[in-house]
Amino acid sequence: MDELACQGGPRSIDAPLAAYDPLGAEEREAVLRVMDSGVLSAFLGSPGEGFLGGPEVRAFEEEWQRAFEIEHAVSVNSATSGLMAAVGAVGVEPGDEVIVSPWTMSASATAILLWNAIPVFADIEPETFNLDPARVRALVTPRTRAIVVPDIFGHGARMDEILAIARDHGLKVIEDAAQAPGALDRGRRVGTLGDIGVYSLNYHKHIHTGEGGICVTRDPRLARRMQLIRNHGEVVVEGDDPEELQNILGFNFRLTELQAAIGRAQLAKLDRLVTQRVEAADRLTTGLATLEGLHTPVVRDGCTHVYYVYPLVLSEALAPKRGAIARALAAEGLPELAQGYVVVHRYAAYRSRILYGRSGFPWKGAGSESGVVYGDGVCPVAESLHDERFLGIELCAHRYAPTDVDRVVSAFHKVWHHMDSLG
Ligand SMILES: *Cc1c(COP(=O)(O)O)cnc(C)c1O
Repeated sequence: MDELACQGGPRSIDAPLAAYDPLGAEEREAVLRVMDSGVLSAFLGSPGEGFLGGPEVRAFEEEWQRAFEIEHAVSVNSATSGLMAAVGAVGVEPGDEVIVSPWTMSASATAILLWNAIPVFADIEPETFNLDPARVRALVTPRTRAIVVPDIFGHGARMDEILAIARDHGLKVIEDAAQAPGALDRGRRVGTLGDIGVYSLNYHKHIHTGEGGICVTRDPRLARRMQLIRNHGEVVVEGDDPEELQNILGFNFRLTELQAAIGRAQLAKLDRLVTQRVEAADRLTTGLATLEGLHTPVVRDGCTHVYYVYPLVLSEALAPKRGAIARALAAEGLPELAQGYVVVHRYAAYRSRILYGRSGFPWKGAGSESGVVYGDGVCPVAESLHDERFLGIELCAHRYAPTDVDRVVSAFHKVWHHMDSLG
């Protein structure tokens, strides 16, 4: 076995990996079609024909509905916007509590704060890094209105258990499936199991439109409410039914015709791109399986994982060496190896509670004060994985052809071979 690159030996990955790029001739054709039409967006923020967007936007939504076998799809200009539209649509009130995972992109929780509701962070399960249903159940209070459930890294959360909790307590469930388009849970598309699901079309997700997102639901009323929130709904909504008016205020979350046309071409490739990603991950798992103290991804029975990130966990014995292992692998040429992920409940903005001015709103206000706590100790499983044991390979960033995967596997084997020499 060669010397480690960090100790003067040759690199296992001696040429940079090619960037992941799912775009091709189909997207180029789609862009030119829209350019030639002269209409780059056909949305109007007023009642009438233009309220639901132009032909590409509508066709994209219909094609998404068909592919995901769901009644309604509402495109938006990002998954962040989509999560905001979703939380508003389900009808949260200021001061309501919404349970969410801390192990997710920050937008899963800011979507709650946008509506002046209170994010309550429930810990994750260590195998799939998704919300632990037992922790969710323990945190339900009379103020709880909804649950935002990330399907993190591309593996579906335990939706059957979470939906049962929601049923028992009359809660709405929003799936943040930004990282999980194409993942399955016993044949059902992840993202279509709750009241609303949200997918991202940001440039480094499985398929993309540069920026973009799409929300899905079976409920026509929720679809309508998201369409209103997307496009200056207060100008459009009629009637004095307070349920119809609640949370309908002027945003512009609209996707352009150009993006929608690219999205249609991308959607047609989704299953093939997901299959390639899964093949790369499976090859990696086979190659890493024999390394002591390295836990490769867990895929629950009946589920598929689509590996936006390829998650690894070190044994307790190896945890003290995480930094040295990551540095040695980086020196071998492995790009984007993250130590830890995200623990939103420890962000200073939450701990300080000064997100809207300095008064402590929405935690403090209208004569009441929320007892929700943030910071260290709130989600010990997420915190210890983040601080000590988790390593993530960002498969989303590069192509990972079989030969690339084999070089990554060699890098790991070399580092493990020399483990005793790592400080
Ligand atoms: C990427 C991502 C988002 C936000 O998506 P954008 O389209 O970039 O706004 C939200 N949640 C999760 C889990 C994500 O990975």
